[in-house]
Amino acid sequence: MKTAASSELFRKLPSVDDVMHVRAVAELAANYGHDSVVDGARVVLARLRQEITSGLLDSDALELALTGLAGAVEKQLRQALSYSLRPVINATGVILHTNLGRAPLGEAAIEHIRETAASYSNLEFDLAAGARGKRDVHVDRLFRRLLTNDAAGTLIEGAGLRPGGTAEAAVSTRAGIAPSEIATIAVNNNAAAVLLALNTLADGGEVIVSRGELVEIGGSFRIPDVMAKSGAILREVGTTNRTRVSDYEQAITERTRLLLRVHRSNFEITGFTEQASMVELVTLARKRSIPLMEDLGSGALLDLRSIGIEGEPGVLDSLRGGVDIVTYSGDKLLGGPQAGLISGGSEFIARIRSNSLFRALRVDKLIYAALEATLLAYVRRDHDAIPTLRMMRLTKEEVGERAAKVAARVDGSKLKVEIVDGESILGGGAAPSSVLPTRALALTCEGLSADELAARLRGSEPPIIARVEEGRVLLDLRTVFPEQDAAVVAALTRIVV
Ligand SMILES: *Cc1c(COP(=O)(O)O)cnc(C)c1O
Repeated sequence: MKTAASSELFRKLPSVDDVMHVRAVAELAANYGHDSVVDGARVVLARLRQEITSGLLDSDALELALTGLAGAVEKQLRQALSYSLRPVINATGVILHTNLGRAPLGEAAIEHIRETAASYSNLEFDLAAGARGKRDVHVDRLFRRLLTNDAAGTLIEGAGLRPGGTAEAAVSTRAGIAPSEIATIAVNNNAAAVLLALNTLADGGEVIVSRGELVEIGGSFRIPDVMAKSGAILREVGTTNRTRVSDYEQAITERTRLLLRVHRSNFEITGFTEQASMVELVTLARKRSIPLMEDLGSGALLDLRSIGIEGEPGVLDSLRGGVDIVTYSGDKLLGGPQAGLISGGSEFIARIRSNSLFRALRVDKLIYAALEATLLAYVRRDHDAIPTLRMMRLTKEEVGERAAKVAARVDGSKLKVEIVDGESILGGGAAPSSVLPTRALALTCEGLSADELAARLRGSEPPIIARVEEGRVLLDLRTVFPEQDAAVVAALTRIVV
């Protein structure tokens, strides 16, 4: 809205051309190129126009802004020409924070990405035969080792973690796929894995799913929508809170192609509930010769009960239990790069692989490099090489000790720093009701609200992302790398002067 006063201010605004004739601005072209400087000048002028419109600038403030025009253009240029995607310090205590990029990769994965990216590789080349090969082989061989019963047993013992085997799975061990028969392929993410598997196995036919499992995962992944896109017809059975195996059985017709189980991930249904067990579903699937697929989502390769996380199903549980096809993410509990993994009997996997959609959803060499390095850490039982597993296994005392050291080093006159008990969470939809006890830094500052304080932390370099709870800012160092502690100290010392 233009008032008489603002029209006056608008008249004082120079044109882009005028700005380009300011000597200090013209000189910027040598460094940034003429076109970039013109763009920068446009942005700065547009911002001033915006500020005038919203009444933020009076005549004096505009005068001042115009004297600093060259500086503003240069700042804009620097911002526009620097990376928008940049590292942040995750002090939220949410280990698999989807907004913050989920799982950070380990050193070996980074190194393997680097060498694979900077060079040619045998991505699809069989060195022994001198002929075309398949990109899947690089990770399939490792999944094969990790997803066989025996390997998993020895795999985890040494690490103080138990293999992913629940009592339920143990009962039906004989129903499982023979280890030599297990194959795995990778696609862009788990959403793609579900889409591809459904399209391959059930296009034009019906898929039976419990009403209690028609979930939506963040970022608009909804089972009914994915089902529709895959060409399969959703056949809902049971009720939100109770679904029995007989409900599945009664829904089976000659059009049924698949039984689907979906891990609820980010929520739980409690109270008067009933869910068909895996054993019941496997038995039904075998009896009626219909494949059973499970969308696990988080995809744990290790049993998390040893760190106090209950009820998070592992990939092994399902395969051992007799589920034919399992889909899961690479960057959730597995701790690797973004990917969607489909493991199951080799005949099913071969069919899925030959679907032309696979070509559209496949992953590139850098993802294979990161996956291979992450899986090798599992094979070597070097779980500490996987950052997210390392973070999960930190005790409350270990996190608390670091928090105390940081607190002692913060020299903030107005900042009040306390150490408090708190809870870290896995995130990524895994074990929604499980928490890991932690100790966090609780910050308050006179004259600053918790939200303002959190905003200042986001504005530091690198940005620090914190949690705001009960009027305090909480920093949980569980998800902060120890080598970042110094940056946290520096930021806390700087932000309140
Ligand atoms: C997270 C999740 C997905 C989506 O996985 P992305 O790798 O993010 O695509 C699908 N299903 C379940 C059950 C999940 O937990």
